Amino acid sequence: MIEDSFGRIHDYLRISLTDNCNMRCFYCMPEEDYDFTPASRLMQTHEIEGLAKLFVENGVNKIRLTGGEPLIRKDADKIILSLSQLPVSLTLTTNGVRLNHFINILKESRVHSLNISLDTLQKEKFQLLSRRDYFQQVYENITLMLQHDFHVKVNMVVMKGLNDDEINDFVEWTKDQPIHVRFIEFMPFSGNKWSSNKVFTLQQILEVVSRKFDILRLQDKKHDTAKKFTVPGHAGTFAIISTMSAPFCEGCNRIRLTADGKIKNCLFSKEETDLLTPYRNGEDVMSLIHKSIKNKAKELGGQFTNVLENVHAEQILNRSMITIGG
Ligand code: SAM
Ligand code: SF4
Repeated sequence: MIEDSFGRIHDYLRISLTDNCNMRCFYCMPEEDYDFTPASRLMQTHEIEGLAKLFVENGVNKIRLTGGEPLIRKDADKIILSLSQLPVSLTLTTNGVRLNHFINILKESRVHSLNISLDTLQKEKFQLLSRRDYFQQVYENITLMLQHDFHVKVNMVVMKGLNDDEINDFVEWTKDQPIHVRFIEFMPFSGNKWSSNKVFTLQQILEVVSRKFDILRLQDKKHDTAKKFTVPGHAGTFAIISTMSAPFCEGCNRIRLTADGKIKNCLFSKEETDLLTPYRNGEDVMSLIHKSIKNKAKELGGQFTNVLENVHAEQILNRSMITIGG
């Protein structure tokens, strides 16, 4: 069992397969030109398998593959199939662009639930936010995955003045489609132009939705990061991930493994622990994992609090989101 000094059991591993991506979302990537990690410095397939197995032997029962964009990795299908052999619930966060190529492999791997990111329902805005023209492809792939009976969660990062005017369009989308929209508060990462006045909070999102819909709060599960709601009669639901205004660190059970093989014990941790080098050298990796989790801060990496006005992105020491794995 992997436990931190606050008694939180860590049984959920998020593995980043790559820090590369076929999109360029400004809130995820550094502003300046970014050199993606060369393949030789990324965990190789057998290393991902070996490390994942170690975590599972020590109590991990859920694995999420993420990135960068996990589905642009050439051996993504091999990795998905191989990890599906472990006794875990396996899932994926993707921008959806390449999902149509993975339907069979996902079914074969018993991946039932997918998080697909889509921040706008407007084609032109999509291009503005992601610097790529993939709106139609992503939208069609979401529809395709629903037709194939996948449980689809749609991640929408809400940014004040950019897409907060679309919140109710997303809720409307849940009327006839069994989609589970997750509004995510904009978070600060290295080089992502964050400022507290661009955050559209849980409270503000609820105010906007309540103006148009009657809403019903749904029951949370123990480790839920999202506060869930539905509009009675709608086929889908919506939820809010309020990392910034109402963090949920108390129930945190997540460990992150970056594509270059480092553990981050929190999305906002300053420190990282290299596992890949010792793993390649045949050293004891498990003791490093336990030590890293024991050092986990109580809340938000110990770097800030939920008083938004006091959060100054430039004072937070961290990687960019694309290199962590969201
Ligand atoms: N490429 C995949 C995708 O876009 O879903 C997986 C990686 S992405 C880093 C994982 C999630 O992090 C996405 O839902 C993305 O919207 C979210 N994300 C990235 N930067 C963020 C930020 N600054 N604040 C909040 N969420 C962010
Ligand atoms: Fe790529 Fe996902 Fe980051 Fe957008 S949010 S740049 S799709 S990794």
